[in-house]
Amino acid sequence: MQAINLRSFKQVVRHNKRRFRSFLTRLEKNVPRGLDNKVTIADKKVWEQIDCLSCANCCKTMSPTYTKKDIKRIAKHLDMTENAFREKWLYKDRSGDWMNKKQPCQFLDLKTNMCSIYAVRPRDCAGFPHHTKRKMTDYMHIYKQNVEYCPATYSLVEKIMEGVNAAS
Ligand code: SF4
Ligand code: SF4
Repeated sequence: MQAINLRSFKQVVRHNKRRFRSFLTRLEKNVPRGLDNKVTIADKKVWEQIDCLSCANCCKTMSPTYTKKDIKRIAKHLDMTENAFREKWLYKDRSGDWMNKKQPCQFLDLKTNMCSIYAVRPRDCAGFPHHTKRKMTDYMHIYKQNVEYCPATYSLVEKIMEGVNAAS
């Protein structure tokens, strides 16, 4: 398990993000055989190496989307009304989704990188970074976005790139 150094990650990303995004665009246009299988295998390796507790960059720089059920569950857990919860912490974005007003997320303990509402956290957080949620080609826009913020997604794309380059 590898601790994440976010400062070096940001430097590496600055140098490589354009190359990674071009690779993903090429992959989308010319899908190699068995891509989703390769993603599943690479994803397992990623999680053997990445320690999210040394990172928490998603909670520091992005907002989850809160569903109605999330709001209901978390407000109850915090002993608040749903309205009070929304008013205190959330805003509605242009697509009508409820998002965090502030970053880092108000529920992140910055000393430990732990989520203070872990057991009732939004479903979006529980599934993040959603590597194998859909076919990779249906989720390419998310990979392109997250490769800049999530060391796990970066590592996954790097592994796929190595595999595709080795096979060509
Ligand atoms: S999911 Fe990605 S951004 Fe979030 S803590 Fe893990 S490696 Fe970091
Ligand atoms: S609710 Fe928890 S897991 Fe989700 S962004 Fe906030 S701190 Fe991170």
